[in-house]
Amino acid sequence: MSFPKVYWEQALELAPLFNELVHRVSLDGDFLQQTLARTKEVDPFTRRLLDIHSKMMELNKKEDIQLGLTRSDYMVDGATDKLLQVELNTISTSSNGLACGVSELHRNLIRHHERELGLDPASVVGNTAITQHAEALATAWAEYNNQSAVVLVVVQAEERNGRPVAVVYFRAGYSPADYPSEAEWRARLLIERSSAIKCPSIAHHLVGTKKIQQELAKEKVLERFLDNKSDIENVRKCFAGLWSLENDNIVNSAIESPELFVLKPQREGGGNNIYGDNLRETLIRLRKDGSNEIAAYILMQRIFPPASPSYLVREGTFVRDNVVSEFGIFGAYLRNKDKVIINDQCGYLLRTKAASLNEGGVVAGYAFLNSIFLT
Ligand code: ADP
Ligand code: MG
Ligand code: MG
Repeated sequence: MSFPKVYWEQALELAPLFNELVHRVSLDGDFLQQTLARTKEVDPFTRRLLDIHSKMMELNKKEDIQLGLTRSDYMVDGATDKLLQVELNTISTSSNGLACGVSELHRNLIRHHERELGLDPASVVGNTAITQHAEALATAWAEYNNQSAVVLVVVQAEERNGRPVAVVYFRAGYSPADYPSEAEWRARLLIERSSAIKCPSIAHHLVGTKKIQQELAKEKVLERFLDNKSDIENVRKCFAGLWSLENDNIVNSAIESPELFVLKPQREGGGNNIYGDNLRETLIRLRKDGSNEIAAYILMQRIFPPASPSYLVREGTFVRDNVVSEFGIFGAYLRNKDKVIINDQCGYLLRTKAASLNEGGVVAGYAFLNSIFLT
């Protein structure tokens, strides 16, 4: 995808700011508990995460070493030409390996057909997501400072090991389906209580909820966590419209013009959002019920990226379609007490889908992997 350099540079600049913001917010346990208090009453998954978090607060558990492997996702809004954040992921930020493979593929194709295409292969941004995230895991392991310790990657229920664990990386655990029984919740709690470096810690995980994203977009909230005025301005610039459903005016507007909004529950992994007529009906039902269930959702301004024609390739066949793209900048943040060891951007993920679709997500079956051709 052709992609203007200014957006690319803006997103790179934001990466360390969002890393730092996640960390600062994660330290404010009361903020997390209070902001999610109403959500907790109606959303059992968020409640279980918050329960682990409040147990750690009771224990006064200190995490000297913190590791965040993040991905901040953006779309360019066609109406305003602004780069707007879709969401900030703090757990299981996937596709870093695939994204690097696709960039290499596109670079090679352009190099191979340089004469016919007249394009510069160097304009395809080289992607270092997988090596940089691996490096951050290794650096966290080194910081743990125990030669016999290992890195535990959480992928399924039954992990066995007899050695100390330096780093626990959660590639699972972001969705209710990852906790089919109490055993998984006990394991999550056990890991949280342990001395291992958690990626993410329970607090970092909670910072990535849509509810916290919405609260951070409120006036004067960023000021609680960031000091530098221009940093605050830069971060705020990429915030789309975000509202809680306690805001009657916005709920009315969304019922009137549902196509301008996205309704989001506290979930990850794609395929969970509500759009269009479904959004209107859901809001009308929630309002009629007068139930607390509205606290499980947030409303977001729908971003309309400029559409352009492209070829979508799946299983060896292709279709030409009008497409829009979302791109994410991976980040890594490693901290030991007061020392910030890594705070960096780490390559990117570009996902392209038919402009007519609502949802995104490659594994969810909507989007295609792509790479950035800087213009
Ligand atoms: P998840 O954590 O499940 O990935 P997202 O907030 O990223 O949740 O939403 C999933 C997909 O829905 C995104 O990849 C994007 O394609 C679409 N989407 C989400 N928010 C918006 C928005 N405000 N405007 C347009 N599309 C959106
Ligand atoms: Mg997400
Ligand atoms: Mg997403």
